[in-house]
Order: sequence, then C-alpha cells, then structure tokens
Amino acid sequence: MADKRDYYEVLGVSKDATDTELKKAFRSLARKFHPDKNPDDSESEHLFKEVQEAYAVLSNPDQRRQYDMFGHDSPSGSPFGPGGFQGVNINLDDLFSGGFESIFSGMFGGGRTSRGRRGEDVLLRHQISLEQVFNEDEIEISAKLSSTCESCDGSGADSPSDVQRCSTCDGQGRIVQQARVGPFVQQMVSDCPDCRGIGNTIRKRCSECRGSGSSAREQKLRLQIPRGTEDGLRLRQRGKGEPIANGQSGDLYIQLEIEPHSWFERDGPDLIMALPLGYPEMMLGTQVELPHIDGKTMVIDIPAGSKPSETILVRGRGMPHRRGRGRGDVTVLLKLHVPKKFDKSMRSLLEDMRSSFGLPESEIEDEVRREAHDRRN
Ligand SMILES: [Zn+2]
Ligand SMILES: [Zn+2]
Repeated sequence: MADKRDYYEVLGVSKDATDTELKKAFRSLARKFHPDKNPDDSESEHLFKEVQEAYAVLSNPDQRRQYDMFGHDSPSGSPFGPGGFQGVNINLDDLFSGGFESIFSGMFGGGRTSRGRRGEDVLLRHQISLEQVFNEDEIEISAKLSSTCESCDGSGADSPSDVQRCSTCDGQGRIVQQARVGPFVQQMVSDCPDCRGIGNTIRKRCSECRGSGSSAREQKLRLQIPRGTEDGLRLRQRGKGEPIANGQSGDLYIQLEIEPHSWFERDGPDLIMALPLGYPEMMLGTQVELPHIDGKTMVIDIPAGSKPSETILVRGRGMPHRRGRGRGDVTVLLKLHVPKKFDKSMRSLLEDMRSSFGLPESEIEDEVRREAHDRRN
C-alpha cells in the first residue's frame, strides 16, 4: 500500500477541510473523471475510483478520524474489507443533483443510527405532462407529510427530563430471554416490550404530537423535472420521509408519472405517432403541419406515392436525450383514412378513379404474386 496516494492529496484539499470543501472537491473531480466523459480511458477510470475512495473515507467522520490517526495502515485493515475499495457506480446526473451523497453516507453502515432505527419511506406519485418533461419544468407538489414535531424535537416527551432510560432493558432496547427446549437452552433476543426497542420511556408525553414525535403538515415541495425523465422515475429526498423517535427519518420518494399524450407514444428519446391520410394525399404527396411539444410547428413531408404502414422519420424533434446533448426522432406511421360514409358525388368520383387506375381483374393474380415476393425479400 506504499504507493497509495494520500486521500487529502487525491482530493486536493487541506487536512482541515470542511465537509463542504470535501464535497465540492469530490464533485468537481468526479465530474472530470467520470467514465461517461472519458470512455475507454483507463487513466481516468483509475482517478475516478481514487477520488471515490478518498471521499468515501473522508466524508465519514469515524473513518476520517481513523485515517487521520493511522493513514493507510490502519491496524483494522482496509475500511472496505479485505478486498479493498471496489468502486461504485455513480450517475453523472447524480453528481450535479447531489444524489451521490446517499451512496457514500450508507457505505460504512452509516445512514442508520447505532440502533438501526429508521422511519418509513414515503412514496408520492405525481402526474406530469410530456410537455413538462420536454421543458424540464420546475414543479410544485403539495402533500401532507410528517415531519419531526417542533415542540418536542421528535422525542415525544413534554420536556427532556421526561425521557427516562427504560428499566426493563436498561436502555438497550432489546431483551434476552432464555427458554429450555428439550435438552437445549434457547436464547431469544427481541425488542423490549416496554420501550418498543427505543431504550427510553416517556414519563409525560408531548401534548402537540401525543408522544409520536412527529406531526403531519401540508408541505410544498419544489423540484425540477430531470432531463429526459421517463415514466415512473423516482426521485429521492433523503430524510423527508416518516420521522421516528430516536432514529433517522425515512426517505421521501417522488414518482413522476407521465400522462398519456394525445397522439404520441414514447420510446426513450423517440416519439411515435400515427398519421391518417386520404388516398389522394398519399398518391400526390402533401405537407402536414402539427403543433409540437417543443412549441414550434412540426412539418411532415409526405412524398408522392406513399403507402399506408410506411413510416416517415422526422429527425431531432423527439425528447431530449437523458444524457448528453440532442434529441431523439419522431417516427410517423402512415395510415389510410377511409371515410365511413360517402355521398352520390363522391361515389361517382370513385367510380371514375376505378375506371382510370383501379387494378383490373386480369392483373390481380400477378399483383398477389409480386406482393408475396416483395414480402419475402
Ligand atoms: Zn426497554
Ligand atoms: Zn411532540
């Protein structure tokens, strides 16, 4: 391990760097060396892993203390276990949004308190339109969410002195019971029934939250729709879920659901639509204009001699790509529009058409043969 670089040196920060400085240094280096920006570059790959490892250790207070004391030669070995650091996958997007933090905070079993108590995760569903996805709109969501009771600061007690160490479990939260089962003595560990695993009991409950430690309030959340969002994308807000007494709040997930568009189907960055046209339009060719999700008119050129079930590609007018620049395409599927009813004059027009370029009965067999041949090739 002698050739291993100092973690502070890797991140280019001083030994007394604050958490914010560490985060800033990590973010900028991780973005620089991210594999998406440096495909097939083993040097960047190595550096990306190196900054991850340095940040994982230094962003964890316990690990940082250990490292400051022993450097890379901690008596307990590598903090990542015998295999050493293996690297983690981080989306480039997460480096911009801050979504990477949860990866590191959970790395050493952190993110949970020593008792491992954690509130429930909460899932909120929110409907958005395809246009909103296109525009990467900022949306506001109102929801009734539980948060830590302000009057007792989540303890559930009327005053701090009303919190008492549970005498049943001696503050451990767990009790060990022994039972004789045949020749064996069986040991059972369970949550303490008196304090329900918390380790404390409350003498006088908080009147605001009646001891639950949390209160539900109408809250407004603002967030920006990420580029190229697909139906069902879940955005996580750490610690905004259900709070819990003497533990860490759960996470809030916001699931973005995209309302069906009036005519587009979505396939990743590409959009697909069906365009019904009359027989004359297909025969003679035409130009169709439609309002489009990007706010501009979309012009579809239908060449003369088009057939139903042929497709026309309109390049670069689809949804933005999730990563990188540019947009997908729009595929237009041609459909033949056949009027359900027609009047006398239309009938005579059609009769005229049939006599001038309808398919004569004598040629049907040849056409059937040609059609089958085309399909095979
Ligand atoms: Zn107890
Ligand atoms: Zn309270």
